[in-house]
Formats: sequence, C-alpha cells, structure tokens
Amino acid sequence: MELNMTIPQLSKKIAATMQVISPPARLAILIAIGRGEACVCHLEAILGWRQAYLSQHLMALRKAEILQDRRDGRYVYYRLKDEAILALVREAATLAGLDPQSVDALANPSPGPDCECPHCAPSLIPTERLRS
Ligand SMILES: [Zn+2]
Repeated sequence: MELNMTIPQLSKKIAATMQVISPPARLAILIAIGRGEACVCHLEAILGWRQAYLSQHLMALRKAEILQDRRDGRYVYYRLKDEAILALVREAATLAGLDPQSVDALANPSPGPDCECPHCAPSLIPTERLRS
C-alpha cells in the first residue's frame, strides 16, 4: 500500500508505467505476446517490423519490468511479467471506442511459416540439441 504518498507522487509513478507502454509499437508487442511467449523473430513475423526496431522497444519494456525474458540456446523469449497488463489494454481499447474482445481475439497469433523459432518450427531444431 502506498498510503504515505501524495496524489502528485502517486500520479507520477502511474504515469511512468503508462508512458512506457503507450507507444503504439509497444502496445502491439504486448498484444502480440498476449498470454504466450515470443522471441524477436516471432514478433518480426507477426508484426512485420525489423529486429532492430523491435529490440529497442523490447529493451524498454523489459527495463520497466513489463516484460521478462528467458534465454534458450540462441533464442530469447519474452513474456508479460504480469498478464494483468492485458486488462489495462482492454480498458484502454474500450475508452477508444473499440470492442475490448478485439484485444483477446488478436492476442498471441500464429506467425505462420515466416518464423523459424523452435516454438513454430520444432523440426528445425538442430539434432545436437535434441540429444542433449
Ligand atoms: Zn516463432
């Protein structure tokens, strides 16, 4: 509980989090990850953006502890640290006059054949990794 804070102090802290997630590209990343887990190549395939552009936003979201990452071989997987952030995105969608269900409907889509990560294409995992 943050009962010893003034309203301006409280507001400043809330605004910091909202500013981190508010750029459209970052909201897109949160929706694309949804309740799942995604590597950069996966997000590249889903959103159609370059890896360098995505990495810059992923870094900001991770630094703000909105995302957490996990390394597995040459892939780094990102997931939402707290899925409650999706509820905030749904509320914001409602305020924007959108159907909040559209957030869930679009969340965590399949990237199709453009992604070669082990989640999408397990057959492409090198055999030495399967043996270990
Ligand atoms: Zn993938």
